[in-house]
Amino acid sequence: RKHIMNVLEDQTKELVIARESAEESVKAKAEFLASMSHEIRTPMNGVLGMLGLLMRHDLSDKQRWYAELAHSSAESLLNLINDILDFSKIEAGKIELEYIDFDLRALLGNFIESMALRAQDKHIELMLDVRALPLLMIKADPSRIRQVLTNLVGNAIKFTEQGEVVLTVGLNAEHSMLCCSVRDTGIGIPEEKVALLFESFSQVDASTTRKYGGTGLGLAISNRLCMIMQGEGIKVKSEVGKGSEFSFEIPIQPSDQQTPALSDVQIDGMHIMIVDDNAAHCTLLKAQLEAWGGTVESFLSGDDALARLQQAAEAAFDVGLIDMQMPHMDGAQLCRKIREEAAWKDRPLVAMTSISDAGDTGTLSDTGFNTSVTKPVTAQNLTELFSTFMSDRDQACGHSASLLSEHHPKSKMLNDEADESKCELRILLVDDNAINQHVALDLLEDLGHSVGIAANGLEALERLRNSPEPFDLIFMDCQMPEMDGFTATQCIRQGDAGEAYQMIPIIALTANAMKGDREKCVEAGMNDYLSKPIDFDKVSEKITRWSRC
Ligand code: ADP
Repeated sequence: RKHIMNVLEDQTKELVIARESAEESVKAKAEFLASMSHEIRTPMNGVLGMLGLLMRHDLSDKQRWYAELAHSSAESLLNLINDILDFSKIEAGKIELEYIDFDLRALLGNFIESMALRAQDKHIELMLDVRALPLLMIKADPSRIRQVLTNLVGNAIKFTEQGEVVLTVGLNAEHSMLCCSVRDTGIGIPEEKVALLFESFSQVDASTTRKYGGTGLGLAISNRLCMIMQGEGIKVKSEVGKGSEFSFEIPIQPSDQQTPALSDVQIDGMHIMIVDDNAAHCTLLKAQLEAWGGTVESFLSGDDALARLQQAAEAAFDVGLIDMQMPHMDGAQLCRKIREEAAWKDRPLVAMTSISDAGDTGTLSDTGFNTSVTKPVTAQNLTELFSTFMSDRDQACGHSASLLSEHHPKSKMLNDEADESKCELRILLVDDNAINQHVALDLLEDLGHSVGIAANGLEALERLRNSPEPFDLIFMDCQMPEMDGFTATQCIRQGDAGEAYQMIPIIALTANAMKGDREKCVEAGMNDYLSKPIDFDKVSEKITRWSRC
């Protein structure tokens, strides 16, 4: 018996050692993947940046086609690398969550706008339903929540050819659980395949990659993230040919800050007409506007709206919201017809446009619209739009289109020459990598700014101290030889580059998509953070934000 005990003990020891070494090797593999993907990101920034610059030049159609293909391939490679990086971090148990107070509605509005182009390219209606979401700040990990939503909504758009994608977000009655669902009217998933979805590198059938691209990693990552956030994981309901619904619930904590930036507008007594061929969109808009006290009638076609208008003896509505893309009679045709009716001549009409049409304000205003909002219309857009209507109405007791002159940011007022006085800044770019320098330099110069370059923190301090003309803003790489960006920032904040520069806006540029970077930048005294690859829009947005320019 003793012998058997000894054998068993030995075997147990061996098993423990074997398990430990297996765990070690899983960890080592994950760490290797993590550092590899990080290393690959740096040259990818060069590739993407250079192609981005190339495409801003005059190219022949063929050249543009080549450059666009290369750019989109580079982007998918970068996505793949990001996925692998994330996946290996999860495997290695290295994902740490951050718990911060944030305004979930603002995040969702912003998120849905960022997905709009993809949906509109495919003529799919993308909607955000936040009727069950109270106006509250919450405490959770916003970037991880956004990451899961990006995957689910991205998939929903990808696997849907016509119809709609609806993201619904709400809290439970106790405000302790966040409930999200993404529903689409796409190809659906066979029942026997549903269980496989959350395994890494799995796709429903082998032709998926060829037809839709993707790696089969997204859902595996999202599902694990939901569990790391203490949720149960993602649930799926699907019917082939009809569509799918992915949903998840995660616990959230109440926030100490109880005042979200956004508040509801009161539009008591305002009559609103909505015309949109998408019934779900009508319902959502109607619910939101009714919750604010408005009286809403919605119509699924221009003909229905006109019939109702002709019935009414006088103008029955204060404001009309009209979808531009409708079958039979589109938004422009309807608008012209409405303008023919005497009673409706002066009523404010708002065009709901897709992103690609949004810039065409001249045509919209020629057609007879007063203003426009881009779809998907979020609670924020509506708040801004209706606050203007209400303040106009309070100021003057009539309703007149000319009252719509105040500028508000998201919905563009037509005929309102935006006050974009050109603003030229002197920007100091601190980066040790020659290719990155080149990309950022061209980009900043294209934006109309003049740029000085320093290759590390020490050089940056030198430039600031000795430059005859002062700098207005700094883009600062983090990892650099001699003196890194964190130290350089601390020195600037202490006044080492002169008192005048102690408060200069410093925006970090980093190749790291690693957690903790943002905190490190903020701790060092930087104002903001941009992760590479940088692009025109991101840089321009940061400059506007930090320069009042
Ligand atoms: P990827 O989209 O990169 O292939 P995912 O893990 O996100 O990887 O998705 C895995 C597979 O699940 C997809 O390839 C697709 O076959 C299926 N799938 C995911 N979402 C949907 C959806 N909304 N409708 C239909 N199929 C889906």
